[in-house]
Amino acid sequence: MADWREILEGQLLPNPPRLTVEEATILYDEADQNELLHTGLQMRRLRVPGNKVTYLVDRNVNYTNVCTINCQFCSFYRPPGHQESYTQSIEQISARFSELEDIGGSRVLMQGGVNPDLPLDWYTDLISELRIRHPSIDLDCFSPIEIEGIADVCQSTTKEVLLRLKNAGMHGLPGGGAEMLVDDVRLDVSPKKGSADNWLRVMDEAQQIGLTTSATNVIGFGESNEHRVKHMEKIRELQDKNLAQGIRGFTSFIAWPVQLENNTFGKRNKGKNKIQLGAGAYDYLRHVAISRLFFDNIQHIQASWPTMGMGIAQLALFAGADDAGSTMMEENVVSASGTTKTLAGEDELQLTILRAGFIPQKRDSNYLYLDTKILHEKVLPCPPPLQPA
Ligand code: SF4
Repeated sequence: MADWREILEGQLLPNPPRLTVEEATILYDEADQNELLHTGLQMRRLRVPGNKVTYLVDRNVNYTNVCTINCQFCSFYRPPGHQESYTQSIEQISARFSELEDIGGSRVLMQGGVNPDLPLDWYTDLISELRIRHPSIDLDCFSPIEIEGIADVCQSTTKEVLLRLKNAGMHGLPGGGAEMLVDDVRLDVSPKKGSADNWLRVMDEAQQIGLTTSATNVIGFGESNEHRVKHMEKIRELQDKNLAQGIRGFTSFIAWPVQLENNTFGKRNKGKNKIQLGAGAYDYLRHVAISRLFFDNIQHIQASWPTMGMGIAQLALFAGADDAGSTMMEENVVSASGTTKTLAGEDELQLTILRAGFIPQKRDSNYLYLDTKILHEKVLPCPPPLQPA
């Protein structure tokens, strides 16, 4: 069996070999933290040359909290008929878009629960109307499980639903709901969400019709390091398949630890038979570095400030991440289970990036660069670009 030092040395070669699941698991289990993170940073320099760290000015809209899936880690959803359930009107949603336009944003990430009372026409009417009222905002909406829910309600296929939404003006399908694409883990915490293959199939369909997609990963369900790498393998395989067909595939990979407050899942951490759940900074940074090394076919790795805080997000930039996420403006799903920070101003994201020694670069949902006014130019001079190893 290979030694972690030899594996890391191979990753520092000019043309590093593709990591196997076994090698990545050895790194996860055994590699020295500093050397692993350093190699992640060197790989970032190879795959995303230069010293820029991107960010997106966007907002979240959580249009409904009604959901029938009952994931154990979720504190956001309410069952149909619950007195705290809500579904926002188009006027309420449009007002949120206007707030984003006021600050020069370019994308809305709109996600909610699996609401059995909303037919497909409700979604297509919403998207069409938003497209007309807010033409400069990219609409990255829903997640594979919501698409499956809509397909169930309208007795159609997920592919047909995606096509209808795209024709109405939807720009992308974010990768929410992937959590852990290993069925032993996944079906334990979200039995109604269905197998990993469902998520992968819907994302595949979305990519086939040209929607912009991202891949996500939640860690800390009590899974092994090998499970975490196997999750990455499923995503890497789909990416290989679609890149070979000339399809763009996932723009990015975004991971964060499960939040354990206010939910059924977190209760497993308490009492006599408690098990160790969640993931701290040490694990999270290892995960960022491993993902940077493992994904030779996904260019962008995102740091998660909402769950880890700005300081750890800065460290993630030294583990291989090249993107600092987005302004969000509001977040109600993950935050319902524990995070407290749900928005960041553009100036705050820029300052976070600058103070880590990188250059802030505003982007859009497709990772294309947008004009960027550095708001702190006179306060903090940017250091010279990092030199490749
Ligand atoms: S995570 Fe999503 S699918 Fe699961 S219960 Fe919450 S809203 Fe529903």
